[in-house]
Amino acid sequence: MPATDTSKGYVPRITQLDSVFLNSEAYSLIKSQLLTAVKYTGQTFVTKLEPEIDAALQYILLNYTVGHHKSSIGQQLLQIKYKDSVSFRKLKYYIFVLVIGKWLKERHSLIALTVTKNDSVKNVTGRCVDLLEIGFRIIQSFNLLLFLYKGSYPTILERIFGLRHASADPSSSRAISYTYFTRELLWHGFAELLAFVLPLINLQYFHSTMKKFLPSFSEDKKSSGDNLDMKFDLETTCVVCNRLPVLPHTFGCQHVACYYCVHSSYAANPTFSCSLCGHQIDSKIQIVPAYMPKLGS
Ligand SMILES: [Zn+2]
Ligand SMILES: [Zn+2]
Repeated sequence: MPATDTSKGYVPRITQLDSVFLNSEAYSLIKSQLLTAVKYTGQTFVTKLEPEIDAALQYILLNYTVGHHKSSIGQQLLQIKYKDSVSFRKLKYYIFVLVIGKWLKERHSLIALTVTKNDSVKNVTGRCVDLLEIGFRIIQSFNLLLFLYKGSYPTILERIFGLRHASADPSSSRAISYTYFTRELLWHGFAELLAFVLPLINLQYFHSTMKKFLPSFSEDKKSSGDNLDMKFDLETTCVVCNRLPVLPHTFGCQHVACYYCVHSSYAANPTFSCSLCGHQIDSKIQIVPAYMPKLGS
């Protein structure tokens, strides 16, 4: 690593980048709380004035963190701050440019519309803003490369204003718990494996096999599969899913199953048998729609 500052107060690159991400995360959390609060009343108002509300919120947030303590929320969480040599005056300018810049980016079309009604001027402004944004992104990418090389100023505005990060407590360095990382990695790997393997396991087969061995609490168990007098009323449940049958079908015994349950069970396991009476389906043609007897007859 070139140009690594080993003096007191050195802040690793990853910590500086993390602080930038934590800042935006913290802001979106606060904003979502606000949106939840006005969910039922002032939503149209908030949507209309979103850039202004954004700017105001960001200004308040930055003013009370960076403006007063020389460290943003993300920086405080990571125990870093801007260098003591940075003046509060400079920070105020930095906050102002940051907030106004974002607001201008959102509102440029409206401003152009207010200033002039001329469409061509509006289009030119729009193009200019687009070009500016592209230029800004290119500079930001160069800045990131430079940051990775030199290890200071993760954002372009911080470089312009000369805001260097420093450790808030030089005696303590950020400890990275590798046990935690390993656990996370293992867990993610395991979850991915499960997501891949679970659809391949024939759960229907396990289900019907288990049901065969487990004792059934139903009285129907004693009745024989040869008895084709189908019992079907409003209390009847599907032998597979135990719920009210959807598109009820019979399959050779007096019991009923959903169309989906019986077909998928038979497709997954050709030795599928009724869990109540043990009747095994011989062929697919045995599976026929069951008809609800007329009520009151
Ligand atoms: Zn079912
Ligand atoms: Zn049966």
